[in-house]
Order: sequence, then C-alpha cells, then structure tokens
Amino acid sequence: MTLVCPSCGRDHADEERFCTQCGLPLVPEGGPAEAVLDERGERLRKIKKQYSEGELVRVKVARQQPEAEFIQSLLLEEGIPSTLRRTRGFDVPEMLAAGPRDVLVPASGAAAAREVLLEAELIDDRTAAPTNPGKVLAGLLAAFAVVGLLILVVDLLG
Ligand SMILES: [Zn+2]
Repeated sequence: MTLVCPSCGRDHADEERFCTQCGLPLVPEGGPAEAVLDERGERLRKIKKQYSEGELVRVKVARQQPEAEFIQSLLLEEGIPSTLRRTRGFDVPEMLAAGPRDVLVPASGAAAAREVLLEAELIDDRTAAPTNPGKVLAGLLAAFAVVGLLILVVDLLG
C-alpha cells in the first residue's frame, strides 16, 4: 500500500504516518480523502438513516425558494433529508423563484425537523401558547385601539 500526502501528493512508505514535507497525516492512495465528494455525495453522507423513513410530511411552508433551500440546509446539518414542493394553490410561473414552497421530510424525521425549526425560530411552538409578554401586550394595545376607535365613532354619530 502506498501512502500519499493529501496536500502535496508526495508518496510515502507504509510505515510513515505524516508527510515529511508538510506534516499532514497521510492517506492511502486512492482512498476516501483523495476522492472529491460531489455535493450529492456530501449530502448523502450527512443524512441519518433513522430520519429517512416513512411518508413525506410537511414541516414548514417557506415563503420562496431561497428560504426553502436555507431550511433544507439547516435540516441537513442535523442529518434530516428533505424535499421541496411548490405549495398548492399558488400559480406562479415555473421559472420564477417566487411563490411558497412546502418543505417535506420523512415521517421519521418530522419531530427532529420541527425541533430544528423551533430552535432556528422558523416555526412557532403551538403547544406553548401565549407565553410571550410582548405579544400579549401588543394584542391588548390593539384591542384598546379598536375600542377607542369605536368610542370615537359612537361619539361622532351621537
Ligand atoms: Zn505533503
């Protein structure tokens, strides 16, 4: 077996562990470090098998293609494969990157995907209802504004 340096490509004898030139760990000639993984190979390598089973379920509707692709990359970081589908009911010409996209993941990866999206604050946790005081306050203020407007209208009519 010939060992080569992944940096300079210099051949080394079997007993060497590091490149005498660069000091980098040597790899077997033609081994995995030499094979340049294409993007697809890189993606497949990351995907965890336990997240790749079952029917596709929708975990998120992205506003457009770039957001959808961003979500896909987030999910892939956690080993969750995903696929995109044009959200039904929106007729946008195929060549435009506009229009919402469904982000679909295998059923076995759905729970993990939701956690990733929650973590990234891309979805709301519907089970943990109004705990955000800012939101509650904004809602109250909006309610008061409506009441105030009604009183004003009633005053003007009266
Ligand atoms: Zn070297």
